[in-house]
Amino acid sequence: MNEPKRSQVIRQNQVAILGAGESGVGAAILAKQKGWEVFVSDFGEIKENYKRELEKYEIEFEENGHTSTKILNVGQVIKSPGVPDKAPIVKALLKAEIPVVSEIEFAAQYTDATIIGITGSNGKTTTTNLIYHILKMARYNVGLAGNVGYSFARMVAEEEYDYYALELSSFQLDGIKFFAPDIAILLNISPDHLDRYEYKFENYIKSKLRITMNQMEDNHLIYNAEDENVVKEIAINGTDANTHSVKSAQLNPENWTVNGETFSASELTIKGKHNLFNATCAIKAAMLTGVETNDIKKALRTFKNDPHRLEKVATKNGVTYINDSKATNVDSVWYALDAMTQPVIWIVGGTDKGNDYNALMKLVETKVKAIVCMGIDNKKIHEAFGTQIKIIEDTKSAKEAVNVATKYADSGDVVLLSPACASFDLFENYKDRGEQFKEAVKNI
Ligand code: ADP
Repeated sequence: MNEPKRSQVIRQNQVAILGAGESGVGAAILAKQKGWEVFVSDFGEIKENYKRELEKYEIEFEENGHTSTKILNVGQVIKSPGVPDKAPIVKALLKAEIPVVSEIEFAAQYTDATIIGITGSNGKTTTTNLIYHILKMARYNVGLAGNVGYSFARMVAEEEYDYYALELSSFQLDGIKFFAPDIAILLNISPDHLDRYEYKFENYIKSKLRITMNQMEDNHLIYNAEDENVVKEIAINGTDANTHSVKSAQLNPENWTVNGETFSASELTIKGKHNLFNATCAIKAAMLTGVETNDIKKALRTFKNDPHRLEKVATKNGVTYINDSKATNVDSVWYALDAMTQPVIWIVGGTDKGNDYNALMKLVETKVKAIVCMGIDNKKIHEAFGTQIKIIEDTKSAKEAVNVATKYADSGDVVLLSPACASFDLFENYKDRGEQFKEAVKNI
């Protein structure tokens, strides 16, 4: 028998969704609502709460593997950001020329809301949360979505917002084709997730720049004009959006002005140079949406960031313990160490993502008294800092790390958990790592 032609077997009204986490389940709910026939497939086990949701919406799903015969004949596939392009099923889909898009691309076509999209290697969540808070305080009908909290697709399905503060990871941007935020923010680009980009920094940079690739003349791009990678790529590729540059070095905490308006850095609830920069980007975005300066000022005074970002946990016996578990790359640790004014016992380590520790050498030399490695494989940390720092100890749990760090800390010192690595070798995720650290500090 002759093989059927592709056009005969493709079911255009069917969508398959790869991955059944927040992103995939959100996409499934939206697709079902919009009349698609939906099939969800997860390579691993699906969490109970998501299974219940899929059942509630009568959405067919499978777990612990992909049935390719059910996936390779659909009209469209939505890929969760966690599924890498090198996964065999994705390769097979691309070979079969079946469109594979990200949940962001899929959801954007079903909303007319003004979208403020935020990306960068560090500061996304902080900036997204702050924009959301400013707009909310100004009584805008605004939703918070994307990489933070609920998926964009779920929000589009279940809510009717006029504005979105949308956090976008590079993985989410990799799967877009036409998506363009009304206002894009590109905070910075430093090496991260290189394991997903063939260990090529250029690939990761290009991925971040996708945030502006479909923008048009009436859109806006707020970008870090001090980040050479950002500046270079914009110069090479150009952008049709109106550009608004921000330079951290030009932000003076004593006299902080944005677009000619003066703000008080001391009243800003988040601290450090990096947060002054993040807040400036957020203010610019809020101003573009028409929020009044006074409303912005009020919001800056009441903003509360998510935990695990330079979070002060406690001071015990004169030693201050800081949880920066969300610092999962070298650049974020740079800002953490830079913000420290007391001698530091530094807890670092975990799953290495292709780290180059060179950028930290100077700061470590001047600020760090002792290093406590917290991870399964700490070889790279020993190699990087072994000659500079006399005390480097290995530990394999948050409890052990806190105890060892406490042993080396004198009154007036800081114990800083700022790992520069992912958490998956010892913990479920960065939140679990941060919570275990806080618990260990509580029990000292
Ligand atoms: P993301 O969502 O991009 O991971 P977060 O706001 O969650 O960013 O912050 C992650 C880590 O990066 C924290 O340790 C934080 O202190 C640090 N950080 C925040 N903003 C910046 C910035 N603009 N530059 C460098 N590091 C930052």
